[in-house]
Amino acid sequence: MESVPRCRIQPFNAAPVHKEGGYVLYWMTAARRLRWNFGLQRAVECSKEWNRPLLILEALRCDYPWANARLHRFILEGMRENALGLQGTPVFYYPFIEWNPGQGKGLLEALSKRACTVVADWFPAFFIPNMIRAAARKIDVRLEAVDGNGLLPLEAAGGTFQTAHAFRRFLQKNLRPHLFEFPEPDPIGSGALPPFQGTMTEVASNWPSALEHLLSDDDTWWDGIPLDRSVSPGWCHGGEGEARRRLDTFVRSRLPRYAEGRPHPDEDAESGLSPYLHFGHLSAHEIFSRIADEEEWTFERLASASTGSRTGWWGMSENAEAFLDQLVTWRELGFNMCHHRDDYDRYASLPDWARKTLAVHAADPRPFLYEPEAFETAATHDPIWNAAQTQLTTEGRIHNYLRMLWGKKILHWTRSPEEAVAVMLELNNKYALDGRDPNSYSGIFWILGRYDRPWGPERPVFGKVRYMSSKNTARKLRMSDYLERYRP
Ligand SMILES: Cc1cc2nc3c(=O)[nH]c(=O)nc-3n(C[C@H](O)[C@H](O)[C@H](O)COP(=O)(O)OP(=O)(O)OC[C@H]3O[C@@H](n4cnc5c(N)ncnc54)[C@H](O)[C@@H]3O)c2cc1C
Repeated sequence: MESVPRCRIQPFNAAPVHKEGGYVLYWMTAARRLRWNFGLQRAVECSKEWNRPLLILEALRCDYPWANARLHRFILEGMRENALGLQGTPVFYYPFIEWNPGQGKGLLEALSKRACTVVADWFPAFFIPNMIRAAARKIDVRLEAVDGNGLLPLEAAGGTFQTAHAFRRFLQKNLRPHLFEFPEPDPIGSGALPPFQGTMTEVASNWPSALEHLLSDDDTWWDGIPLDRSVSPGWCHGGEGEARRRLDTFVRSRLPRYAEGRPHPDEDAESGLSPYLHFGHLSAHEIFSRIADEEEWTFERLASASTGSRTGWWGMSENAEAFLDQLVTWRELGFNMCHHRDDYDRYASLPDWARKTLAVHAADPRPFLYEPEAFETAATHDPIWNAAQTQLTTEGRIHNYLRMLWGKKILHWTRSPEEAVAVMLELNNKYALDGRDPNSYSGIFWILGRYDRPWGPERPVFGKVRYMSSKNTARKLRMSDYLERYRP
């Protein structure tokens, strides 16, 4: 027992385990995958130890903030894959999809009545922390949430970090032992689980399983779910298999030019993995392992000094190190913030120096002022900005470098930095497949100085916050194809 590191398991109530219960309930909320999944692994462990079958509940509400057809389709594609992947296994898969707001209320409570224990996924942002806490209060069996978010367990750092450099140094000092504690690639296939016997007819009469729908070939079955249909499906399909295919293509054909090519929109050198990471269709551990294999990497190659330097610590190629700096340092920095601070999405969470300098320049005249609708419809005077916004609304992504410029110009062209935050959060979280994530809040608040330092010269509107201009961007980047492709 306990192949999942203790520090990744957080109990959320003081209720007892009912070892004589009918099953172990895994509530799949954020790690929506069957492989490389610490939460699932923990549930499998309990199931084997107490010789009780495993039931996986994967639910999808229809009234989560920004619920729309783009996000729903991606999640549903993942659920279909899970349904297919669990066919022929001893596990009982219970997918529940709401057709009306609030329809799922009471389902977890009902299932927990016969459960030995409930294992959930920990994800430190959006509505998930409150949902887990509320559920834990309502049920009378133990609920624990498992953190499989990143290579460093969230509890391994005692607080937040002011800069990526400080966090990188912390990682270089503390990550090593956790690199020996990876989740099992195939927790369900790793040993015999007791089979699920009986049916769930009583519960299913109130909360019908969506299994048949998910397995049908008709992809219009979810047309009747009330959602914002104006946001059409995005640039890629969801699901663990699709995620793995993209990882493979990235490692083979883009990683070899990642460090140099990443800033240039025409190079297409990024991984495109952020939606899969966000919805838990792919784990950071699996990505790391795939890259380590490709690099024929061994632990002995880790440097012993912890200088916080961006390169040299992993002992991998320049491209792999550049990628891991995004995947591990930058991604996990944002998770760290959300895990430790409830105000991660509020203006007040910005560092003092940034709030002060933005306040000094609050009344500066803006060179252009746009209403939220003009931003949303890509109707500004700036063709680069409009192209980035068009990519966001039509596909659900923005090239990374242009995402920075996109945010900086929203700060430049709104009445106040607080309004800029509101506009960025709304557009990013509504349209981006990878939105509503700890990275969303890192990226948006980075625009206003989070994780950054004061820069000179002091400028109107920005003060000492780092400035970016479309003119410089156009000069530095290869982007003519991009501008043509995303012309509004
Ligand atoms: C204003 C703004 C908003 C952003 N909103 C989001 C968001 O909603 N969701 C999101 O995942 N990222 C966000 N980012 C960060 C970054 O733009 C994306 O993670 C990246 O572009 C995703 O593309 P990729 O998977 O091809 O990245 P790759 O370059 O292939 O990087 C691999 C992974 O590393 C992580 N990563 C890369 N860049 C960053 C970064 N700057 N900060 C944190 N993690 C990073 C992501 O998980 C990414 O999938 C935002 C950045 C800015 C400036």
